[in-house]
Amino acid sequence: MYLQELTINGFKSFADKTQIKFDPGLTGVVGPNGSGKSNITEAIRWVLGEQSAKSLRGERMGDVIFAGTDTRPPLNRAEVTMVFNNDDGYLDQQPTQVSVTRRLFRNGDSEFLLNNKQVRLKDIVTLFMDSGLGRDSFAFISQGRVEAIFNSKPEDRRGIFEEAAGVLKYKQQKAKAQAQLDETDDNLDRVHDIVHELS
Ligand code: ATP
Repeated sequence: MYLQELTINGFKSFADKTQIKFDPGLTGVVGPNGSGKSNITEAIRWVLGEQSAKSLRGERMGDVIFAGTDTRPPLNRAEVTMVFNNDDGYLDQQPTQVSVTRRLFRNGDSEFLLNNKQVRLKDIVTLFMDSGLGRDSFAFISQGRVEAIFNSKPEDRRGIFEEAAGVLKYKQQKAKAQAQLDETDDNLDRVHDIVHELS
Protein backbone atom coordinates (compact mmCIF):
# COMPACT_ATOMS: atom_id res chain seq x y z
CA MET A 1 0.00 0.00 0.00
CA TYR A 2 1.22 3.48 -0.66
CA LEU A 3 -0.18 6.98 -0.79
CA GLN A 4 -0.78 7.81 -4.41
CA GLU A 5 -2.60 11.10 -4.39
CA LEU A 6 -3.66 13.85 -2.04
CA THR A 7 -6.24 16.48 -2.97
CA ILE A 8 -6.66 19.50 -0.71
CA ASN A 9 -9.46 21.98 -1.26
CA GLY A 10 -10.26 24.85 1.10
CA PHE A 11 -8.10 23.39 3.90
CA LYS A 12 -5.96 26.00 5.70
CA SER A 13 -3.79 27.88 3.20
CA PHE A 14 -4.98 25.70 0.28
CA ALA A 15 -7.84 27.88 -0.94
CA ASP A 16 -7.67 26.42 -4.44
CA LYS A 17 -8.06 22.74 -5.19
CA THR A 18 -4.54 21.33 -5.11
CA GLN A 19 -3.64 17.82 -6.18
CA ILE A 20 -0.36 16.23 -5.17
CA LYS A 21 0.67 12.95 -6.79
CA PHE A 22 3.19 10.73 -5.03
CA ASP A 23 5.36 8.19 -6.79
CA PRO A 24 6.58 5.12 -4.89
CA GLY A 25 9.69 6.00 -2.92
CA LEU A 26 10.73 9.13 -1.12
CA THR A 27 9.05 12.50 -1.72
CA GLY A 28 10.36 15.77 -0.35
CA VAL A 29 8.28 18.91 -0.04
CA VAL A 30 10.28 22.13 -0.03
CA GLY A 31 9.19 25.74 0.23
CA PRO A 32 9.75 28.98 2.11
CA ASN A 33 8.65 29.42 5.70
CA GLY A 34 4.88 29.72 5.99
CA SER A 35 4.25 28.38 2.49
CA GLY A 36 2.09 25.48 3.74
CA LYS A 37 4.40 22.45 4.08
CA SER A 38 3.10 21.53 7.53
CA ASN A 39 -0.46 22.15 6.34
CA ILE A 40 0.04 19.23 3.93
CA THR A 41 0.85 16.78 6.74
CA GLU A 42 -1.97 18.23 8.80
CA ALA A 43 -4.36 17.64 5.89
CA ILE A 44 -3.26 13.99 5.89
CA ARG A 45 -3.79 13.62 9.64
CA TRP A 46 -7.12 15.38 9.38
CA VAL A 47 -8.50 13.11 6.67
CA LEU A 48 -7.41 10.10 8.75
CA GLY A 49 -9.71 11.31 11.51
CA GLU A 50 -7.76 13.73 13.69
CA GLN A 51 -10.22 15.08 16.26
CA SER A 52 -8.04 17.54 18.12
CA ALA A 53 -8.12 21.07 16.70
CA LYS A 54 -5.20 21.98 18.96
CA SER A 55 -2.96 19.36 17.44
CA LEU A 56 -3.77 20.97 14.09
CA ARG A 57 -2.64 24.31 15.54
CA GLY A 58 -6.19 25.68 15.81
CA GLU A 59 -8.68 26.55 18.52
CA ARG A 60 -11.76 25.02 16.94
CA MET A 61 -12.04 22.48 14.14
CA GLY A 62 -13.55 25.20 11.93
CA ASP A 63 -10.12 26.85 11.92
CA VAL A 64 -8.97 24.36 9.30
CA ILE A 65 -11.28 25.98 6.73
CA PHE A 66 -9.55 28.61 4.58
CA ALA A 67 -10.00 31.81 6.58
CA GLY A 68 -9.46 34.28 3.74
CA THR A 69 -6.73 36.78 3.00
CA ASP A 70 -6.61 40.50 2.17
CA THR A 71 -7.51 39.62 -1.39
CA ARG A 72 -9.71 36.53 -0.99
CA PRO A 73 -12.85 35.94 1.03
CA PRO A 74 -13.03 32.99 3.42
CA LEU A 75 -14.42 29.68 2.18
CA ASN A 76 -17.28 27.70 3.68
CA ARG A 77 -15.89 24.24 3.24
CA ALA A 78 -12.66 22.28 3.67
CA GLU A 79 -12.23 19.00 1.86
CA VAL A 80 -9.30 16.58 1.73
CA THR A 81 -9.10 13.30 -0.20
CA MET A 82 -6.37 10.71 -0.02
CA VAL A 83 -6.04 7.90 -2.54
CA PHE A 84 -4.04 4.79 -1.64
CA ASN A 85 -2.74 2.17 -3.97
CA ASN A 86 -3.80 -1.05 -2.26
CA ASP A 87 -2.58 -3.53 -4.90
CA ASP A 88 -0.95 -5.61 -2.17
CA GLY A 89 -4.25 -5.85 -0.23
CA TYR A 90 -2.62 -4.34 2.84
CA LEU A 91 -5.84 -2.56 3.73
CA ASP A 92 -8.86 -4.79 4.20
CA GLN A 93 -10.69 -3.07 1.33
CA GLN A 94 -11.72 -3.51 -2.26
CA PRO A 95 -11.03 -2.21 -4.91
CA THR A 96 -7.28 -1.89 -5.14
CA GLN A 97 -7.52 1.90 -5.06
CA VAL A 98 -8.87 3.13 -1.75
CA SER A 99 -10.00 6.72 -1.36
CA VAL A 100 -10.79 8.48 1.89
CA THR A 101 -12.45 11.91 2.02
CA ARG A 102 -13.27 14.26 4.86
CA ARG A 103 -15.39 17.40 4.52
CA LEU A 104 -16.19 20.08 7.01
CA PHE A 105 -18.62 22.95 6.53
CA ARG A 106 -18.59 26.21 8.45
CA ASN A 107 -21.96 25.40 10.02
CA GLY A 108 -20.27 22.41 11.68
CA ASP A 109 -21.60 19.67 9.39
CA SER A 110 -19.00 17.10 8.52
CA GLU A 111 -18.72 13.98 6.40
CA PHE A 112 -16.37 11.07 5.90
CA LEU A 113 -16.39 9.06 2.70
CA LEU A 114 -14.70 5.75 1.96
CA ASN A 115 -14.53 5.01 -1.77
CA ASN A 116 -17.11 7.80 -2.24
CA LYS A 117 -19.63 6.21 0.14
CA GLN A 118 -20.54 8.01 3.34
CA VAL A 119 -19.16 6.28 6.44
CA ARG A 120 -18.63 7.06 10.13
CA LEU A 121 -15.44 8.42 11.64
CA LYS A 122 -15.21 5.09 13.49
CA ASP A 123 -14.99 3.19 10.17
CA ILE A 124 -12.05 5.30 9.03
CA VAL A 125 -10.26 4.98 12.38
CA THR A 126 -10.79 1.20 12.44
CA LEU A 127 -9.60 0.80 8.85
CA PHE A 128 -6.30 2.50 9.58
CA MET A 129 -5.81 1.35 13.15
CA ASP A 130 -2.67 -0.77 13.39
CA SER A 131 -1.91 -0.19 9.71
CA GLY A 132 0.94 2.04 10.84
CA LEU A 133 -1.01 4.95 9.39
CA GLY A 134 -3.42 5.71 12.24
CA ARG A 135 -3.86 9.38 13.09
CA ASP A 136 -1.62 8.97 16.18
CA SER A 137 0.87 6.64 14.57
CA PHE A 138 4.57 6.95 14.03
CA ALA A 139 3.93 7.76 10.41
CA PHE A 140 3.64 11.43 11.41
CA ILE A 141 6.40 12.98 13.41
CA SER A 142 5.60 16.64 13.64
CA GLN A 143 7.83 19.38 14.96
CA GLY A 144 8.35 18.86 18.68
CA ARG A 145 6.98 15.30 18.66
CA VAL A 146 10.43 13.70 18.98
CA GLU A 147 11.04 15.47 22.31
CA ALA A 148 7.49 14.66 23.36
CA ILE A 149 8.13 10.94 22.75
CA PHE A 150 11.38 11.03 24.73
CA ASN A 151 9.78 12.96 27.58
CA SER A 152 6.57 10.94 27.72
CA LYS A 153 5.64 8.68 30.63
CA PRO A 154 6.69 5.02 30.24
CA GLU A 155 3.07 3.87 29.83
CA ASP A 156 2.43 6.45 27.08
CA ARG A 157 5.62 5.39 25.35
CA ARG A 158 4.44 1.80 25.60
CA GLY A 159 1.27 2.86 23.72
CA ILE A 160 3.43 4.13 20.88
CA PHE A 161 5.19 0.76 20.61
CA GLU A 162 1.87 -1.06 20.80
CA GLU A 163 0.48 0.96 17.92
CA ALA A 164 3.67 0.30 15.92
CA ALA A 165 3.52 -3.43 16.74
CA GLY A 166 -0.13 -3.65 15.73
CA VAL A 167 -1.58 -4.80 19.06
CA LEU A 168 -3.62 -1.69 19.89
CA LYS A 169 -6.68 -2.91 18.01
CA TYR A 170 -6.68 -6.20 19.96
CA LYS A 171 -6.21 -4.38 23.27
CA GLN A 172 -9.29 -2.28 22.53
CA GLN A 173 -11.29 -5.35 21.52
CA LYS A 174 -10.15 -7.09 24.72
CA ALA A 175 -11.23 -4.11 26.87
CA LYS A 176 -14.65 -4.15 25.16
CA ALA A 177 -15.03 -7.91 25.70
CA GLN A 178 -13.99 -7.50 29.36
CA ALA A 179 -16.62 -4.79 29.87
CA GLN A 180 -19.27 -7.12 28.41
CA LEU A 181 -18.11 -9.96 30.72
CA ASP A 182 -18.33 -7.63 33.73
CA GLU A 183 -21.85 -6.62 32.72
CA THR A 184 -22.83 -10.28 32.35
CA ASP A 185 -21.36 -11.02 35.81
CA ASP A 186 -23.51 -8.22 37.26
CA ASN A 187 -26.60 -9.65 35.56
CA LEU A 188 -25.81 -13.13 36.90
CA ASP A 189 -25.44 -11.70 40.41
CA ARG A 190 -28.88 -10.15 40.06
CA VAL A 191 -30.37 -13.46 38.86
CA HIS A 192 -28.76 -15.27 41.84
CA ASP A 193 -30.26 -12.69 44.20
CA ILE A 194 -33.74 -13.21 42.72
CA VAL A 195 -33.38 -17.02 42.87
CA HIS A 196 -32.25 -16.70 46.49
CA GLU A 197 -35.25 -14.50 47.36
CA LEU A 198 -37.69 -16.93 45.71
CA SER A 199 -36.27 -20.10 47.27
P1 ATP B 1 7.61 26.53 8.24
O1 ATP B 1 8.66 26.20 7.22
O2 ATP B 1 7.84 27.87 8.88
O3 ATP B 1 7.34 25.44 9.24
P2 ATP B 1 5.34 25.78 6.56
O4 ATP B 1 5.74 25.79 5.13
O5 ATP B 1 5.27 24.46 7.22
O6 ATP B 1 6.24 26.79 7.42
P3 ATP B 1 2.63 26.08 7.38
O7 ATP B 1 2.86 26.17 8.84
O8 ATP B 1 2.14 24.80 6.79
O9 ATP B 1 3.96 26.53 6.63
O10 ATP B 1 1.60 27.19 6.88
C1 ATP B 1 1.37 28.33 7.59
C2 ATP B 1 0.52 29.23 6.75
O11 ATP B 1 -0.79 28.70 6.66
C3 ATP B 1 0.41 30.59 7.39
O12 ATP B 1 0.67 31.57 6.38
C4 ATP B 1 -1.03 30.67 7.84
O13 ATP B 1 -1.56 31.96 7.74
C5 ATP B 1 -1.71 29.77 6.84
N1 ATP B 1 -2.96 29.26 7.38
C6 ATP B 1 -3.16 28.44 8.43
N2 ATP B 1 -4.47 28.22 8.65
C7 ATP B 1 -5.12 28.92 7.70
C8 ATP B 1 -6.50 29.11 7.38
N3 ATP B 1 -7.49 28.52 8.06
N4 ATP B 1 -6.79 29.90 6.32
C9 ATP B 1 -5.83 30.49 5.60
N5 ATP B 1 -4.51 30.36 5.83
C10 ATP B 1 -4.16 29.58 6.87
